[in-house]
Amino acid sequence: MAWDFSTEPEFEEKLTWIRDFVREEVEPLEVLFPGCEFLPLDEDRRKIVDPLKQQVRDRGLWAPHLGPELGGQGFGAVKLTLINEILGRSGWAPIVFGTQAPDTGNAEILARFGTPEQKERYLDGLLSGEIFSCFSMTEPQGGSDPRVFTTRAVRDGDDWVLNGRKYFSSNASVASFIIVVAVTDPDVPVHRGASTFLIPADTPGVNIEATHHLVGSLPHEAGHSLIHYDNVRLPASAMLGEPGHGFQILQARLAGGRIHHAMRSIGVAQRALDMMAHRAKSRFTQGSSLADKQLVQAFIADSYAELLQFRLTVLHTAWLIDTAGEHAARAEIGVCKILASQVLKSIGLRAIQVHGAMGLTQQLPLTNVLLGGVALGLADGPTEAHKVNLARMLLKDYEAEDPEWPSEFLDVRVAAAQAKYGDRVSQIPLVPPAP
Ligand SMILES: Cc1cc2nc3c(=O)[nH]c(=O)nc-3n(C[C@H](O)[C@H](O)[C@H](O)COP(=O)(O)OP(=O)(O)OC[C@H]3O[C@@H](n4cnc5c(N)ncnc54)[C@H](O)[C@@H]3O)c2cc1C
Repeated sequence: MAWDFSTEPEFEEKLTWIRDFVREEVEPLEVLFPGCEFLPLDEDRRKIVDPLKQQVRDRGLWAPHLGPELGGQGFGAVKLTLINEILGRSGWAPIVFGTQAPDTGNAEILARFGTPEQKERYLDGLLSGEIFSCFSMTEPQGGSDPRVFTTRAVRDGDDWVLNGRKYFSSNASVASFIIVVAVTDPDVPVHRGASTFLIPADTPGVNIEATHHLVGSLPHEAGHSLIHYDNVRLPASAMLGEPGHGFQILQARLAGGRIHHAMRSIGVAQRALDMMAHRAKSRFTQGSSLADKQLVQAFIADSYAELLQFRLTVLHTAWLIDTAGEHAARAEIGVCKILASQVLKSIGLRAIQVHGAMGLTQQLPLTNVLLGGVALGLADGPTEAHKVNLARMLLKDYEAEDPEWPSEFLDVRVAAAQAKYGDRVSQIPLVPPAP
């Protein structure tokens, strides 16, 4: 029986180092190189970013999500949560620590399903943080429901020929390679008829038709692309995993991705809460500080309560993953995905409100928190779809009862108690006597 909320002193030391390092060394990159996280390093950025990455490596903290077989420390999900919640504070921190999405998820599926040749070709660069990757699944006609996907890969001799259009393929404009989900067998349901392909970004026929940016992003950011795969010819060795297993690979990728987003969201929300509290204590209006106004106190208390529940949920999910495996934590991972979006939206909105008009300007990172919450309600599948899946999963454990009288209906319970103990008591009252 071990339910322990403490952190080993040696690991706490690492966390203290990460906290100071992110605040002192990494957060300044946000204003030095805004929106450049996913751009290949130019000379200026490399001079600063490479030595920071080296410090992380020297401390044994590079790519903390990976097991030792891939050059990580094998920290496990709980320790990773404690690290990632700090890294979430800054958009640059995941880059400096080698944990940025979508590359982490893409590296995981390559490590798990890739052939030795595929790993050699793509994985090393990804793990060293030297190249970026893209995951291309959503289509212009819909992302939530894979049954509408029409991008097809058709056998032609030993090759596959890929045709179709994909939308919102993040970082396609800077990626060295793209992981594409395409229908290979249209005669079976898409969950059994789709496959996954690894495509070098410069392959003939891979045409980026447009790149769209989220509101508030900078024009040089990598953005989210509409890609036309126009007769892209791929060798058989381009397939990742088995034909028809695209969705199994996808599920493996998204489960990890969702929990990593949730871990980082704790840090994003904590930063917004810190800003809200500082501002509340610093700003005076109508005779007192904002921190003295009960409505603002409610903002802070509600935000802390939401964040605490969320953080404990993520840590508990991580503990389940460590102790029972990702499959056993499916429902909890779904909860983390749903809560991450909610928590960022509600705390982000309150933090903006407390900062007044300034909260809406680009001088503060708060609209990013709010929009980040909205984006997390869509990326990796919309909240509604996750709620549907979660409810289905939960409902499996319940049986239908008598449609007229539920089992908790008092008359029903009295009859049951009568049947069990009636021979030993003189009377079972329908309504318990008042105390
Ligand atoms: C920041 C960001 C990054 C992304 N990166 C990538 C990427 O790298 N690669 C990629 O392939 N895709 C990416 N996406 C796309 C994302 O996966 C899709 O946006 C998502 O799957 C929803 O698809 P859609 O946008 O086409 O919305 P639609 O499928 O048109 O759905 C619209 C809305 O319908 C509602 N809805 C859907 N299903 C249900 C349901 N069952 N019950 C009730 N309501 C429902 C939801 O409110 C949903 O938002 C990204 C999205 C964002 C925001």
